[in-house]
Amino acid sequence: MPTRAPRIAIFGGSFNPIHVGHLLVAEEAADRLGLDRVIFVPAGEPPHKKATGLASASARLEMVRRAIAGNPRFGVSDVELKRRGKSFTVDTLRHFHESLPRGARLFLVIGEDAARDLPGWHDPRGILRLARPIVASRAGTATGALRSLGRLMPGGGRPEQVPVRVGVSATEIRAKLAAGRSVRYLVPEGARQVIARRGLYRGRPR
Ligand code: ATP
Repeated sequence: MPTRAPRIAIFGGSFNPIHVGHLLVAEEAADRLGLDRVIFVPAGEPPHKKATGLASASARLEMVRRAIAGNPRFGVSDVELKRRGKSFTVDTLRHFHESLPRGARLFLVIGEDAARDLPGWHDPRGILRLARPIVASRAGTATGALRSLGRLMPGGGRPEQVPVRVGVSATEIRAKLAAGRSVRYLVPEGARQVIARRGLYRGRPR
């Protein structure tokens, strides 16, 4: 009996810290698109973001590990954390592409903001040749971003869209922690324990 080619998604982000929005995006994408695996890839030195108040690589990796524990479809990779200097998404995708089983399909999960920026990233066509984008839209629609990605996709395809209407952001969580406020239920419990034990984001710049 022929087996279905595995469908694997890469989900990059600062995860500073990982929060329920990220988990919902990953679960919704896996569910809607029949993904076998979603691999969270915390960014080392994000090329597209100012790295102020960025927790250490080991802290962010530990938070992701604890947050995804128990979900057999979720995994984490430290490939970008181990790379020196700036990491480009196209290099990360190449890394996974090379280790995939034959016929496997690679997807890239990105938020609406990232989808809008992607045409300006290093080698956007290379990115879209290697992976089919799954755009998670906070507001439910990201038509402009979808159209411009579609134009760059080989064969003029259309990105997948996953609506996740949860207005949680890591910025808001860092601000709460800096103000000594609770982030319970915004951050998965395991990650919250890492934050408390390591004393992360206390009085940090936002
Ligand atoms: P920050 O507030 O520090 O910018 P963030 O909450 O956007 O962080 P990232 O680690 O940058 O977190 O997120 C990784 C990806 O997940 C990004 O592409 C982002 O758009 C997307 N994302 C984050 N939160 C949500 C959410 N609540 N709904 C949909 N997408 C989200």
